[in-house]
Amino acid sequence: MKILVTGGAGFLGSHLCTELLKQDHEVICLDNFYTGSKQNVSHLLSHPNFELIRHDVTFPIFLEIEGIFNLACPASPKHYQSNPVQTLKTSVHGAINLLGLAKRTGAKILQASTSEVYGDPRISPQIEEYWGNVNPIGIRSCYDEGKRAAETLFMDYYRQHQVDIRIARIFNTYGPRMAIDDGRVVSNFIVQALMGKDITIYGDGNQTRSFCYVSDLVDGLIRLFFNETTIGPINLGNPTPIPIKDLASEILQLTNSTSKIVFEQLPSDDPIMREPNIDKARQILNWEPSIDRQQGLMKTVEYFKNTIIR
Ligand code: NAD
Ligand code: UDP
Repeated sequence: MKILVTGGAGFLGSHLCTELLKQDHEVICLDNFYTGSKQNVSHLLSHPNFELIRHDVTFPIFLEIEGIFNLACPASPKHYQSNPVQTLKTSVHGAINLLGLAKRTGAKILQASTSEVYGDPRISPQIEEYWGNVNPIGIRSCYDEGKRAAETLFMDYYRQHQVDIRIARIFNTYGPRMAIDDGRVVSNFIVQALMGKDITIYGDGNQTRSFCYVSDLVDGLIRLFFNETTIGPINLGNPTPIPIKDLASEILQLTNSTSKIVFEQLPSDDPIMREPNIDKARQILNWEPSIDRQQGLMKTVEYFKNTIIR
């Protein structure tokens, strides 16, 4: 299949492009390099089935393709909050432009949505039927509401125009090729531990997240995309939650670091708990994560050791 991956030079996108090429698809990687980099796909540039385009999804694009993975959007709070208007435009205008492209070409299209559509959830674990608890006017809203509006657009293009859509609600994912300055918790803690800097826990560290290793997540995205029947949202993530303060201890241990832990102010609207119910993914996609946190963190630590030393 000839597949467009928007945000393909980002963390998840670069792994997805690599895997799709392995499975003999043609890949057009589109990115504006806001948080992604050419470096992330440098190993693919000479591949005969790979093409790289610099483009911003907030503007229309005309291509002939058969499939689209829409990953374009900064995912780290630090980056999506630094230009919130552009973040919202990326999710909303980007979805409109790419759904239009899917409608014209008849391409199947997958949206990289997020657990953030559940906001600061009042139920745990989160099931797909839960409508969420989202602040519409806070500092996370540009991302949360943008992703929610994108889901609405996807469902309406399906109902109104019969576009063949998929929606993946991705929970926290980590691994090699996260940028050193990404700002998300796993890369922050590992880089801080390796460099002997203070480990910055925001709040008291009792808030929970469930961390999925990147290869598992990419496998889930590809299974969902090629599944024949699924239209509505599917949670993809690791179902084992951990408090952030315990993650800090695990990373200190794995890196043999003497960094000390410091507590900083919790940013507003930071969700207290996040844990996916993945029954749907298990049943429909026959998918569940296979890499546990210990293994995944070790691989990520190795990556950052090499990146920092280089
Ligand atoms: P990332 O920031 O590394 O990648 C995003 C990519 O999109 C970058 O390459 C960036 O340059 C590109 N981009 C941003 N705005 C763009 C625009 N307007 N036009 C073209 N390209 C643009 O983040 P990631 O972790 O790889 O996330 C990829 C997708 O998955 C995002 O849509 C994100 O919301 C979603 N997601 C990720 C996670 C996670 O934990 N990694 C969790 C939930 C959802
Ligand atoms: N966090 C932290 N220290 C950091 C970065 C993040 O304690 O250096 C916390 C953050 O406040 C949140 C959790 O770790 O509670 C996950 O943050 P991240 O930015 O990775 O993703 P989120 O799930 O909040 O989008």
